[in-house]
Amino acid sequence: MAEYAYDFSEGNKDMKDLLGGKGANLAEMTNMGLPVPPGFTITTEACLEFLKRGGAPPEMLEEAGEHLERLEEAMGRQLGDPDDPLLVSVRSGAKFSMPGMMDTVLNLGLNDRSVEGLAKQSDGDVRFARDAYRRFIQMFGKIVMDVPGEAFEEALDRAKERKGPGTQDTDLDADDLTALIEKFRGIYRQHTGEEFPQDPKEQLRLAIAAVFESWNGKRARDYRRQNKISDDLGTAVNVQAMVFGNRGEDSGTGVAFTRDPSTGEKVPYGDYLPNAQGEDVVAGIRNTLRIVELETLDPDAYRELRQHMDTLERHYRDMCDIEFTIEKAKLWILQVRVGKRTAFAEWVMAYDMLAEDLIDADTGLLRVDANRLEELFKRRVTAEGATPIAKGLNASPGAAIGTVVFTADEAERLGKQGERVILVRRETTPDDYHGMIAAQGILTSAGGTNSHAAVVARGEGIPAVCGADAIKLSPADRTFTASGTTVKEGDVITIDGFTGNVYVGELPLEESVLEKARAGDAEAREQKVWHAFESLMAHADRVRRLRVRANADTPDQARNARERGAEGIGLCRTEHMFLGEERVEAVRTMIFAETEEEEAKAYDALAPLQRDDFVGIFGAMDGLPVTVRLLDPPLHEFLPNQVDLAVEVALGEERGDDVEEQKALLQKVNELHETNPMLGLRGVRLGIVKPGLYAMQVRAIFEAAAQVRRDGGDPKVEVMIPLVATAPELRQMREELEPVAEESLGDVELSHLEWGTMVELPRAAVTAAEIAETAEFFSFGTNDLTQTAFGFSRDDIGKFVGMYEERKLVPANPFVTIDVDGVGRLMRIASDEGRAANASLHLGICGEHGGDPASVAFCHEIGLDYVSCSPYRVETARLAAGQAVVGAAESASK
Ligand code: PEP
Ligand code: MG
Repeated sequence: MAEYAYDFSEGNKDMKDLLGGKGANLAEMTNMGLPVPPGFTITTEACLEFLKRGGAPPEMLEEAGEHLERLEEAMGRQLGDPDDPLLVSVRSGAKFSMPGMMDTVLNLGLNDRSVEGLAKQSDGDVRFARDAYRRFIQMFGKIVMDVPGEAFEEALDRAKERKGPGTQDTDLDADDLTALIEKFRGIYRQHTGEEFPQDPKEQLRLAIAAVFESWNGKRARDYRRQNKISDDLGTAVNVQAMVFGNRGEDSGTGVAFTRDPSTGEKVPYGDYLPNAQGEDVVAGIRNTLRIVELETLDPDAYRELRQHMDTLERHYRDMCDIEFTIEKAKLWILQVRVGKRTAFAEWVMAYDMLAEDLIDADTGLLRVDANRLEELFKRRVTAEGATPIAKGLNASPGAAIGTVVFTADEAERLGKQGERVILVRRETTPDDYHGMIAAQGILTSAGGTNSHAAVVARGEGIPAVCGADAIKLSPADRTFTASGTTVKEGDVITIDGFTGNVYVGELPLEESVLEKARAGDAEAREQKVWHAFESLMAHADRVRRLRVRANADTPDQARNARERGAEGIGLCRTEHMFLGEERVEAVRTMIFAETEEEEAKAYDALAPLQRDDFVGIFGAMDGLPVTVRLLDPPLHEFLPNQVDLAVEVALGEERGDDVEEQKALLQKVNELHETNPMLGLRGVRLGIVKPGLYAMQVRAIFEAAAQVRRDGGDPKVEVMIPLVATAPELRQMREELEPVAEESLGDVELSHLEWGTMVELPRAAVTAAEIAETAEFFSFGTNDLTQTAFGFSRDDIGKFVGMYEERKLVPANPFVTIDVDGVGRLMRIASDEGRAANASLHLGICGEHGGDPASVAFCHEIGLDYVSCSPYRVETARLAAGQAVVGAAESASK
């Protein structure tokens, strides 16, 4: 038979699944000998059974009854005894703390008769007893029976008003409270259609049922969805003997943290409210004191509390968040849990605890959340209370302030003049790149976390909010509206890439300590968070097996990545090398070429420019591998937008301008137009259709490598062919391109040269064995692999991915975290079968997932050699790769 209830003395802290977090910790503290009021926990299994049957199983009621009897015996009092009643609190407590659920009912067991017994018990304090009763009716009504809380609040306010202006709760005397109790019972009756229950067992039964039912309440469900907590866990119920913090000035209640949860400092932190019950602290009816002020108020209780705080911290080997009550100078501990903390504090605490020998280095590594590391580097919006006008996806972290511009050209123009701008677009294309990098921040109204805007923003470390669909753009009059506010070009806005919030006006920002320290600021380097960062990262680097490379396209990005610890470039996208004023002509000539000679001329113009680009990149990454990807996007991306051009031609014709050139361009753009460009003439298909194109790029790569080598450098080159679906595609490309490489290198020998492909199409994954025979490496392009495996457009997913996550149709946004069952399986097949066919095959990942901690753990699990991610996520990946070795991260911040 299932055991549905446990006395606190029967459990321990590792029984969270069954007893919930609160119950397991109450049991632990009881067994540690801490002063915990006795009680028992009804299990999560009881909850699940209750929900399944639509009511309490009889055995559960029986068991709870037995435990109640034991509690009564231990306390020498009976629930509801008219002379000397036992009162209990009833609290929910799931495995994870869940603010969405029913919280606490205090003083359960009071009724019209036992309230007199309570008065006797408390030295004839009738006022205290009646106040306890009115609080109980209020809480029970509101929390258990859903009576609107305001109804009670209003009645309380009216009672105070009647006493005269300035009356406090505490000024109401016993008679006032008797009248108020009558009022409250009336309110209860009015809203529930029933009398307030006088039978304490009935009260308890109803309270337990309410806790169980609250597991499926809307707020609880929403909270679970938001925090990725399973719906199948259920909640426990804790029934505990009451102690009172509102029995005079030698009583009170408080919350104590063993360290400061916002700075991480090893100082006691928390609040204390004299002569109050727990809910008074929450309701904020009086200002609380700082916990250290308790030392003057009640030195003995404070000393004892500090002792228990130490004991608990040493026992849990972590910062604890403790709720306590002092009843007539006697200290009681009511709850403990490992405390939540800021991203900043978790680093400081882990570092200190390591130094104090409280934890070992591996535990220290697991105490910090790789998902929140980037936060430590970014400037932040500090203004509290500001209301956002829109919220989008937090696509690239950091905060940015600037004037609104709607075109990349304008962003570039103003950016060059030193003006701070935010580029606001429906979405961006490679054509907007020049404006994007000139902007402080990027805001798009469409597109997801892997849209062009998001990828470029993260790559460049530019804060971005994407897919803020509340924003309605009116490009014609250069405005956008959101939440009824119209923002014009030139207006200042602030975007917060941590939260996805968009604000009108300039909000205050602050620079991060870590970024200052990295830049050499002596003061910042003295700060503990910097020492913590250096020491924990060093441990991650020591233990990790995965190498970490960066996706970097320019020498600047390469240098930045290297400073952050990148061990090479896993993806150098070459599309930027086809942009820029001096290249537009050659690129257009190449696209328009009618004859081979014309095309060759264009390549001759582009090759030296691209060679110089590669010289810079190989120089910046000297001695480390650089994976260069040959051109991937469809060619039309290098031509003007079809609609814009058609409008320009139409308007020009109307005005009688000479638009022959634009017309010719439009014709070409129309010719190149594809219904599905993402599945069209791109990647290796371009290489096949336009053989000179890849040959030109290979020439530029190897002439650059030869030059760097001759200058004493050590370029390590990996050439990557994108979007391969079949082995013959790759074979033919290698046959065509390797001789070009050899010729360009001349007599120069490179220390490292590999040819490989991206695995970003399902067909490539399932035919990996065959492809591996021609490849020296695979790099998983999980952006396209996710797109093609799901058939989800990576640029349009913003419209529905939120709903998909909410309804648990996908475990997480698959463009952020690898979909292990689908995309992950394709990766596993490709790795296993690829390696089986070619034992020396190198494997990496260069999709955005390469910087996502959960995905990094998966890459570790399937045995990849490296992950490659945006330069700004290199540290995150290093940390996650270390954590993947020592165990699953168990950050308290979640
Ligand atoms: C990918 O598809 O994962 C990839 C890295 O290539 P891109 O994002 O440039 O398509
Ligand atoms: Mg791709």
